[in-house]
Amino acid sequence: MNITDIRVACPTPPGMPTGWRGTMGQIIVAIDTDSGLSGYGIGGGGAAARHVIEEALRPLLLGADADQIEELWERQYRATLAYGRKGLAIMALSGVDLALWDLRGKAADVSVARLLSPTPTADTPAYFTVGMAGDDPDAGIGVALDAGYETIKLGLGRFSLPADADVLVQGVRKVRQRVGPDIALMADAAMAWSDREAVLEISQALAEFDLGWLEEPLPADDLEGYAWLAGRSPVPIAGGEHEFTARGFSELLARGCHQVYQPDICWCGGLTQLRQIYALGRTHNVRVVPHRGSEVFGLHAILALEAGAPLAESGRPWMEWVGGRELSGGRARLQGEGAGFGVDLSACF
Ligand SMILES: [Mg+2]
Repeated sequence: MNITDIRVACPTPPGMPTGWRGTMGQIIVAIDTDSGLSGYGIGGGGAAARHVIEEALRPLLLGADADQIEELWERQYRATLAYGRKGLAIMALSGVDLALWDLRGKAADVSVARLLSPTPTADTPAYFTVGMAGDDPDAGIGVALDAGYETIKLGLGRFSLPADADVLVQGVRKVRQRVGPDIALMADAAMAWSDREAVLEISQALAEFDLGWLEEPLPADDLEGYAWLAGRSPVPIAGGEHEFTARGFSELLARGCHQVYQPDICWCGGLTQLRQIYALGRTHNVRVVPHRGSEVFGLHAILALEAGAPLAESGRPWMEWVGGRELSGGRARLQGEGAGFGVDLSACF
């Protein structure tokens, strides 16, 4: 099954946010083969990633055996080393990798989840994210509870530290009082803070509310800060949605930066890398909860690779059109079991 063409589209679905998630947003990669099968993947990096694929990756891959996924990954990684390693080039590579995995599943006529495990689980609990501002949670808490979610993540990125510490703690207290003790809560600072001492203080203040994790409380590159914090914080530290490749996660691991990893399969280097990141987590007792995990590409991996307590982030509203999965009663499952990732993205081209 040899590669005959690689095509890239930059869709602009309704509701796509402004900022980097719009301009550097998702790309759709199609890989055609001489078997007549085409595979589809989603990467990131917008038009810049399309340029990387068309100019740098496509010439490397034309004529290659599409089933040599791991070898092709290394070939692309090496070819982009001078400007890649992290960021846009790896986001581009992620879309290519996922399209190759889609092809591997289609060629074997099984789902990607079943390629990865003979016994993938049928579904996984999902969590819903509610952005907070001031000391009152927005109506999202009610939306999450009404939809049956038993796990809710609070977006805290609009608070400044240490200035807003008191109002932040008061807000989380109100949420815990409202949802009661049986709803799991986590918190996400989305890299908005940078003062590690202030973060430790807020973690100590939030510990009484039984948070499952505190996510990205520092910029992604402050590995020293993360290592300092992870060794002291009473709330487990999560991160990695802006880390790339298993090599990158190995560095986080070596420094002891987090208790929870959140790789994004469409950014971190695709399934080839996410598999290795899961293996790192398993071996070294770090939980893996993929970013946007209930979107179809991540969901196949979670259902197959998570041996402990699976959990899937509920996904982005502007990615709903991709389909391939159902979310109901606070749980995510695949929609049927089509071959590959089970979604047809041919209409994007
Ligand atoms: Mg996050």
